[in-house]
Amino acid sequence: MNDKTPCRPSDVINYMKIHHDVNVSYDKAWRGREIALNSIRGTPKDSYVMLSTFSDALIRNNPGTYTAKEADDEGRFKFYFMALATSIDAWNYCVPVISVDGATMKNKYLGTLISACTIDGNSQIMPLAFAVVDSENDLSWSWFFRNLKVVFGEHNEMVIVSDAHKSIENGFNVVYEIAEHGLCAFHLLKNLKKNHKSLPMEDSFNKCARTYTPLEFEYYMRQLEQLSPSMRHELEAVGRHKWARAFFRRKRYQVITTNISESMNSTLKEQRELPVIGLLESIRSLIQKWFYERRTKWSFQRTQLSIYAEDMIRESLRQSRSMNIYPVDQHEFEVHHRKEQFVVNILNRTCSCRQWDLDLIPCSHACIALSTRNLNPIYTLISSTMSQI
Ligand SMILES: [Zn+2]
Repeated sequence: MNDKTPCRPSDVINYMKIHHDVNVSYDKAWRGREIALNSIRGTPKDSYVMLSTFSDALIRNNPGTYTAKEADDEGRFKFYFMALATSIDAWNYCVPVISVDGATMKNKYLGTLISACTIDGNSQIMPLAFAVVDSENDLSWSWFFRNLKVVFGEHNEMVIVSDAHKSIENGFNVVYEIAEHGLCAFHLLKNLKKNHKSLPMEDSFNKCARTYTPLEFEYYMRQLEQLSPSMRHELEAVGRHKWARAFFRRKRYQVITTNISESMNSTLKEQRELPVIGLLESIRSLIQKWFYERRTKWSFQRTQLSIYAEDMIRESLRQSRSMNIYPVDQHEFEVHHRKEQFVVNILNRTCSCRQWDLDLIPCSHACIALSTRNLNPIYTLISSTMSQI
């Protein structure tokens, strides 16, 4: 018996008769069922009071923290949501792409832990919010998104990335109006592998999902098509604007998959065996530890941007040394590299390779154009996202 399996007193009567050859009265079966449910989910009074006490202490010790909870008709807790003040503050310095995922809890309650994470300017996981729900369905996901929206808002650059779970899409559609929903490329690849078992599609698919231009997308899509014509059909049916960076209607930055959520879930693998409050408390303490370590590291850092952004620019500058540049006018440049040509506009911060446009970090072509004008690529990156927190 668990809280997700419908269990009526008549089921208890039948079970006892079949498995133990014992006749049980309806009244006894009803009382037995109640005791079993309470031991799995806690008594209504215990679980709700304990969560309320936990929430009060959490908010008292971390002002600005947001929590929400909901009980079922019998007063037992059903959903719980938590976003710590540190995560809420850090959101302003993160890319506006949120990865969400649900992971089964392994304690007696057997609910689901939902997590929402993003990446900071240093390309590190930034946990934003967590929820414990009875199971993954339209109701629990829409409740989660409603609370996520209360805390982190919604704007036209915002993206939520998830696997293809129907309830996530339904919940998203109910709550969000202008944010965009994107699919995880890794899960899509997993399905593709299931349908075309022995075909070596991984490399072409990954390039198809990650490339910046429609032209290159088509090149890799044709490679997939050569392996199996039905692969293009399957991927087009999903909608290229859902999973391919070149066609996505917003910026995905480095969040092409839900890997950050899965890393978070695997970090919390052992904690997911704890009772609900133990799990929530260990998440709080983990986030506190991460923030302490990151702040300590940043306090010793003397760079203008995050280490990640500066490393990317340094690498682009290195690559740009082998390129040739031809000015078109004061702002526009043509950059030749091997047999390829790119057009950079330093005023609009664009390059025809689309990397500067979509990642907001100058590409190698932009770096040579900026250097030609004696501009330092690092100082053109006036984006709070890539600065230090
Ligand atoms: Zn470029």
